[in-house]
Amino acid sequence: MLFEDWIKNDTKSVLLVEPDFPIPNKSRNHENFLPIGLLKLASYLRTKKIEVKLVRHENNSLTGDFNQLRLSIAPKDDFSPDLICVTSIFTYWSKYVAEAVSYYKTLYPKVPVLVGGIYASLLPQHCKEYTKCDDVICGTVEAAEEIIPAYDLVNVDYQIIHTTRGCIRRCGCCGVYEIEPQWTYKESIKDEIVKKKIVFYDNNLIANPYIKDILHELIELKEQRKISYIESQSGFDGRILIKKPEIATLLKQAGLKNPKIAWDGSLKEAENIYKQISILTEAGYKAKEISVFMLYNYDLDYEEMEYKRVKCFDWGVQITDCRFRPLDSTFDNYSPNKTKGQCSKDYYIHPNWTDSGIRKFRRNIRRHNICVRHETEFHSSLLERKKIPIKKAQEYRGASFEIAVEHIPDAWDPKVFHIIDEIEYDRSKFK
Ligand code: SF4
Repeated sequence: MLFEDWIKNDTKSVLLVEPDFPIPNKSRNHENFLPIGLLKLASYLRTKKIEVKLVRHENNSLTGDFNQLRLSIAPKDDFSPDLICVTSIFTYWSKYVAEAVSYYKTLYPKVPVLVGGIYASLLPQHCKEYTKCDDVICGTVEAAEEIIPAYDLVNVDYQIIHTTRGCIRRCGCCGVYEIEPQWTYKESIKDEIVKKKIVFYDNNLIANPYIKDILHELIELKEQRKISYIESQSGFDGRILIKKPEIATLLKQAGLKNPKIAWDGSLKEAENIYKQISILTEAGYKAKEISVFMLYNYDLDYEEMEYKRVKCFDWGVQITDCRFRPLDSTFDNYSPNKTKGQCSKDYYIHPNWTDSGIRKFRRNIRRHNICVRHETEFHSSLLERKKIPIKKAQEYRGASFEIAVEHIPDAWDPKVFHIIDEIEYDRSKFK
């Protein structure tokens, strides 16, 4: 059934639920994890005079209330929904969705529970059987798409905008064409803007044929001090930047921060990627503000990815890394803190990768980014954790790796290729 068909004449109240996803507390209100679909549904339901309540399902408790402040209406003990809508994100977080559905079905056994969102759209059959919900809503709810989301339900100072849906491409690693099969775009967004900070959720923002018009709108709004911050969640399609470099200048003029370039292909593309980065630096961005989006634990092995990382260090840019999980993967128990490692029973490991390669690459990226951000030529965990005597730390903080390594026992050189099994400094021996 369509979502709209679940809204009956006697539907008076709807409970909107974000499952207890394992999002770190500091990221809870971050734009990457805002349940934007539920906020749109909330606005749509309000147009029908339906009361809504948004909750974050935490620890099997109805009081999991979006950081104690995300409720749109004062919590009522007698809130009795006629319909419950649960959102979903990644397929590998399906168990959190199932827990939320089970909890609310127990609490309100007669109330239908629907699940929508990315997991629901990618694996509707699995979602229906595994979560035991009453219905799965695939894709977007058309009627809610054009409405401004109910930002009053959440405590954030930014708004999320899609200028497009779908994508002009069809990359093998990506589920966009399944979730949003239609490529659609807007010509203007100025009437949607209600906050000073904007985060674009487009999959491929600059592919919008009206992107220049939209950026001109944003430049005007910036001049009028109606907006102050713009960011794009996804990396830019650099092939478009090469064809239309003037877009980079408009992005800079509009105040877009921290542009990202996607580099999913091989090392052979380095020259092209460098051209794309140069277009951004010529438009006024500093290299260290730019980030290269990289998918790892996929076709390219550790060695090639590590050489790509070294290239990025040469160019002075950061890396936004993304560990690949198959689109139909329904679990992911990867733990970054497992010193003894994990195996493919715990999480997806691509045949070209190993657990130790994944961990090593992730560590390299973290240290790489710290070096780029702080403009230092080496990284040291001991320095970072203030385990080096302060005088010594001050003396060598700005030194080259070659000098630092003589004095800082765990100095790590971002300029060079690191093998997976390199012997790292044994911190326990440092007193
Ligand atoms: S360009 Fe990006 S959003 Fe589009 S299909 Fe490829 S990976 Fe997905």
